[in-house]
Formats: sequence, C-alpha cells, structure tokens
Amino acid sequence: MQNANKLTSLTEPARETPIWGRYDVVVLGGGPAGIAAASAAARGGQSTLLLEAYGFLGGMGTAAGVTNFCGLHANVYGSIQQVVHGVVDDLLERMQALGGLCEPHVIFDGRMAAQAYDNAAFKLAADALVLTSGASILFHAQAVGVLMGSANDIGALLIETKSGRFAVQAKVFIDCSGDGDLAAQAGVPFEKGRDMMYPSTMFRVNGVDPARALAALPQLDRLMEEAAAQGHRFARRSPIIRPQKNTTEWRANVTQLANADGSPVDGTDAAQLSAAELQGRSQIVDFLAFLRGFAPGFEQACLLEIAPQVGVRETRRIIGEYQLTEQDVLQCASFEDSVGVNGWMVEEHVAGNIALRWQDIPHSRGFNHLPYRMLLPQGVDNLLVAGRCAAMTHGGQSAARVSGACFVMGQAAGTAAALAIRFQVRPRDVNVAQLQTALEADGVWLGRSVPGRT
Ligand SMILES: Cc1cc2nc3c(=O)[nH]c(=O)nc-3n(C[C@H](O)[C@H](O)[C@H](O)COP(=O)(O)OP(=O)(O)OC[C@H]3O[C@@H](n4cnc5c(N)ncnc54)[C@H](O)[C@@H]3O)c2cc1C
Repeated sequence: MQNANKLTSLTEPARETPIWGRYDVVVLGGGPAGIAAASAAARGGQSTLLLEAYGFLGGMGTAAGVTNFCGLHANVYGSIQQVVHGVVDDLLERMQALGGLCEPHVIFDGRMAAQAYDNAAFKLAADALVLTSGASILFHAQAVGVLMGSANDIGALLIETKSGRFAVQAKVFIDCSGDGDLAAQAGVPFEKGRDMMYPSTMFRVNGVDPARALAALPQLDRLMEEAAAQGHRFARRSPIIRPQKNTTEWRANVTQLANADGSPVDGTDAAQLSAAELQGRSQIVDFLAFLRGFAPGFEQACLLEIAPQVGVRETRRIIGEYQLTEQDVLQCASFEDSVGVNGWMVEEHVAGNIALRWQDIPHSRGFNHLPYRMLLPQGVDNLLVAGRCAAMTHGGQSAARVSGACFVMGQAAGTAAALAIRFQVRPRDVNVAQLQTALEADGVWLGRSVPGRT
C-alpha cells in the first residue's frame, strides 16, 4: 500500500452537481468589462447572469481600490476628449447623481486626463446599471472549472458558493475574470510571462491639507530621494498620489509587490498572492511614515482604507484571433472590425518604477481601434473574452488594460453574444458590420473619424 504521507494529490469521488440555472449569456467577473458585457447582453434581449466572487461589482476598480478611471479620454491632436462612450455614459451619470464622481483631472504635464471616483458610488451605480439592463447577478460565486459540451464548446461553468457547488449553463459565455480563469479552464491557449506587470496594494489616507499637498506633488520624487538618504526604503519610484472627491482624502498607488527573487507576484498563484497581501500592507506602513514625516500637507494624514485585495494588473492574456500590440497603440492603429477605441498610453509597471511610452502626442489622433478579433479566443466557439485578459501582447495590454478600454471590450462582447444568439451563429461568425451598427446605436464611438476633423 502506498504511504499516505507521500501522496501529492487525492482523488475525490465523482459527484452529481446541481444546475443553478440556464441562461442565454453567462458573464464571469463583475469588473469594468463584466459590468459592460452583462448590461449589453441583457439590453440585447438575452437572459443574462453575471457571476462575481465578491459581494459587489467594480473588479480592480473597487476591490483593489483603484478609484480612478483611466482610458476614457484621448489626446486628439492636442485636445483631450472623452472617446469611450456607450454603457459607460450611463454608469458615469449614475455615479455623478450619487455625488461620487470627480471632474476629469489633467495628468502627465497636461497630456492626458483621468477621472477619480468614490468606491461606494461605483458599486451602487454598477448594481443599478446591470439590474436595470435586465441581467441577474450572483455574488459570492467563485468559478472553479468547466464541463466541456464538446471539444470546442463549453457545456457548463462550475461555481462554488456558500450553498455548495453548482453548474451554470449558457449558450454563450463571456470571460471577464481579468485572469482568464474560464478561458484557461476551457483550454484556450494563453500567455503569462515573467515580464508580467507588478501588482500594487492601493490605500487611501484622510486628514490631508489639500492645498499644501497639491503644491508639494511635483516635489514628491525629490522628497523620496531625501527620505531614502535617511534610511527610508521604497518599493518603487513614480508614486501616484491624488485627491478624491472629498479633497482631504487621497488615494495612493505607490507599492510594488515582488517575490523573493524580485520577479513580479503572479495573481494566479495562491501562495504568491497570499504573501503579497502581507507585503503590500507592510509597504503601506513604511510609505505612510514617509508621507507624515516628509511630505507637506500630509503631516496629520491617517490611514483610511487598505484595499480589500492586492491590485493585479496583468496575468493571463489569451491567444485570440488577433493580439493587440504595443505598436498598434503607439501608432494609433486602425482596424476594419473596430468595436471602440483606446486612448491610454503604454503604462508598464516594471521593477522599481513605471515606464511610460506615448503615442505621437500632440501630432497624432491619439487613439487606436480595438478590433473585435481580440475578443475571440482560439479553440473554443461559445466563448468571448473581454477586459485585461483579452488577446493582447504584454505591451498592448500595458495600455488597453485600463478601465476605459475594458468597458469598450465588455460592451462589444455582450453585444456580440446577443447577436450570435439572435442569428444562431458562433460569436466568431457574427456579422461585424451588424455588430458595429448595434454598438453605434447603443452610443459606442468606434473611432472611424477624428473628432473635430472631417
Ligand atoms: C493597483 C492598480 C492601479 C490601477 N490604476 C488604474 C487607474 O488609475 N485607472 C484605470 O482605469 N485603471 C487602473 N488600473 C487597471 C484597471 O483597474 C484594471 O485593469 C481593470 O479593472 C480591469 O478590468 P476587468 O474588468 O478586465 O477585470 P477586473 O477589474 O480584474 O475584474 C475582474 C472581476 O472578476 C472577478 N473574478 C475573477 N476571477 C473570478 C472567478 N474565478 N470567479 C468569480 N469571479 C471572478 C473578480 O473578483 C473581479 O471582480 C489599475 C490596476 C491596478 C491593479
């Protein structure tokens, strides 16, 4: 008999798994991509279920404390304009009505804009957006596996809940898990390199003197150098510290999470992720001490919130019909099958710093098309993949991972799923012209002209 202490795995008994429900469309993950995908699929007339591991929507935008939309805007020949539209406009209106959305603020020496928000407003507005679209939500449901219906079709998604394990069936699945969990479980090929971007734990402080702190912002790098000379340790340079709606409250994106060998923490590795939670909180203690001791306006700052989880920028990127590349972003590429645009620059979180690479601003239109093909995974027919795990190279993902492009991809995936079901075709066979017409009818801007130019 085999020594039980030497076993590295155990065989579980086969089990009957109850079916939670059958839907036209099942969306996995309630981040920016999933919110848009579920809303669009339901508005397209399909019974839709949005599955989310947390008890709230927003993905990294809430669970990782991002509290700031990037990628809604582009620098179009020197003029900063909102270029991402569609269901996101509905979301922004709802957040505005809740008093939880700031005006866009200009960053990077006037080259770009971003828009800060309050976590609670994003959660509430996303609930309302998805539910009024007609989709259902199941919170506290962790997807753990798939049952294939055939070699190229997912038959059911397996979820673990507080009520036990269930199977969920759908005609079309949309993977918006950020990590490509569903696609990977279904056997879709993916990339996950050692050059993955480093994660960060976000936090917010209160008790800031906003006027003095804003004035001190340009000095922050120098102040960090002074502090380092006195023994302070920093995980990375290029801190991003900004005020929230209540200007005494500031968010800080300053930590960087690495393994003992210096490699980036892999957000799909349970042990690395767990260690990173501890590391992130420890870095926050150090950074807060620096802020209070060295940064004007932060002398009385106190810790308001540490995000519920490590903020993960990049893990699996699926291999699809087309991989969006860094050159596509930098050269403002056009695609016949555009489903919307990305105007964010390449923002790569590398060891100890952030590397920015820009489109030719202000001499270019400042945005690239996002092609429908980047949502179509190789090998599985009834699946679309949207958001930061869609088909992109590492460089392409370093730009189009931000919220703006994820909203675009999600809306396109949800609309395409609805069309595929209506016309009884595979998502990869959806008529692209019909998809584009439907997206434009729902307010999406496809970027086929340049605003202000004929
Ligand atoms: C530290 C940090 C700072 C950032 N700063 C900005 C910024 O300032 N502005 C900006 O626009 N973007 C920023 N980003 C990027 C942006 O927030 C994300 O890339 C974006 O949220 C990705 O959207 P998504 O919908 O693709 O995935 P995610 O936001 O990652 O959402 C995925 C959702 O799926 C759920 N999920 C995952 N796996 C499962 C499963 N197996 N079962 C059930 N549910 C599952 C998760 O709980 C999550 O809710 C930042 C990211 C990080 C990490």
